[in-house]
Amino acid sequence: MRHCPHCRTHQKHTVERVKTSGRRTTSTLKQASRYRLIKLHKGYGGSPYKKIEHGLKYGSKTSQKIMLRYKCESCGKKHQANAGRAKKFEIQKTK
Ligand SMILES: [Zn+2]
Repeated sequence: MRHCPHCRTHQKHTVERVKTSGRRTTSTLKQASRYRLIKLHKGYGGSPYKKIEHGLKYGSKTSQKIMLRYKCESCGKKHQANAGRAKKFEIQKTK
């Protein structure tokens, strides 16, 4: 049960996860530092820093932001909500 902004009442919803990792936008400064890191990485035989690829991909954080998409069962419209951060996330079915 969740509040539906379209019905303006509480309705049953189906939940699915929204992938946010692919849509992340980076500023030009961040991108420049990323290219510098890649250049560094090329020059050495190995990586000068530990876990460089992990750092490039996720930053310093090990958890990921989770967005949820709710679909109202009565009107069929979808709306999203931020569910915070978690290292591991799974949706369980409730009867
Ligand atoms: Zn609705």
